[in-house]
Amino acid sequence: TVVMGIETSCDETGVGFVQDGVLLGDALASSMAEHARFGGVVPEIAARAHVQAMVPTVQAALLDAGITLADVGAVAVTAGPGLATALHVGVAAAKAYALALGVPLYGVHHLAGHAAADTLEHGPLPARSVGLIVSGGHTSLLSVRDLVRTPIVHLSDTVDDAAGEAFDKVARLIGLPYPGGPSIDRAAKEGDRDAIRFPRPFTGPHDPPLGFSFSGLKTAVARHVEAHPDVNAEDVAASFQEAVADVLTAKALRACRDEDVETLVIVGGVAANSRIRELAAERCAAAGVDLRIPPMRLCTDNGAMIAAIGDLLVRDGATPSDPGFSAVPTVELRQAQLV
Ligand code: ATP
Ligand code: FE
Ligand code: MG
Repeated sequence: TVVMGIETSCDETGVGFVQDGVLLGDALASSMAEHARFGGVVPEIAARAHVQAMVPTVQAALLDAGITLADVGAVAVTAGPGLATALHVGVAAAKAYALALGVPLYGVHHLAGHAAADTLEHGPLPARSVGLIVSGGHTSLLSVRDLVRTPIVHLSDTVDDAAGEAFDKVARLIGLPYPGGPSIDRAAKEGDRDAIRFPRPFTGPHDPPLGFSFSGLKTAVARHVEAHPDVNAEDVAASFQEAVADVLTAKALRACRDEDVETLVIVGGVAANSRIRELAAERCAAAGVDLRIPPMRLCTDNGAMIAAIGDLLVRDGATPSDPGFSAVPTVELRQAQLV
């Protein structure tokens, strides 16, 4: 069965086609540039851009896959979490395609999609693994079994900002362009990561050992920049990035130890970060943990990952979603199928 995946939870319109764990092709449109002057995603602008981009992106993905709509046997769409107005566009489009084609429809969890993205590159997940989801809206450690049958267990979350949010806010503080993650990653390459010793949040003896917090780190950066107005932005970027990478990878490996698993999967937009990838690789190698991170283009939001989780559901014989479902903007990740 060829599964079409549709993603519109934020500012990316993504469409992908997956069959039996193989990515046939995909396409992506983004309204990122339209939000840049606001310093963050404006929901109404994102929704209108999805309406404009939806059909052309489906056509581009079909072309990339070398198939036609007649080949599609199931549709999966991000039902949540995400921006409500943006989600509704994808859900409505997915319902229209599924109805017109007479194929089943699955409303899936965006973060399960992020996790499934890795299977397109590295094949099925092992029986047990630890997942680190780091994105614009989430920072969580998860105990993952098979992604579709067994509920996903949250080991920890951030108590305040998500890691991606911290990258975006710190970039603004030091005058780097939106979106902040890629800007900081680039600037950090020209800076010294040992220039400033920023705090490693939640690493004290009385802190939750797997918990995350990033707002204090952001404040520490703000204070430092205030106190040293002529500080080199590249050094701040590199030192901040080092603090985030250090905390994320140390806690992820601690979770692997606690859970006694041998595989760590890092997914989500922040998994595109070059220093996080490097430090995770070093520390996993030292601990004998198998590290899986999808290639960068599958880390940030895309349609292929939604097709990937849809394909896992289809092959598992999951019951299609009720055709009356609506988007679910706020929800925790427990099951891959959300509605
Ligand atoms: P969520 O998936 O939680 O709903 P989202 O869809 O906005 O949120 P993603 O698209 O998965 O999140 O990731 C976007 C985030 O990833 C942004 O905060 C962005 O700054 C960050 N990001 C992207 N590339 C990098 C990078 N190279 N280094 C650090 N952060 C990055
Ligand atoms: Fe995302
Ligand atoms: Mg995004």
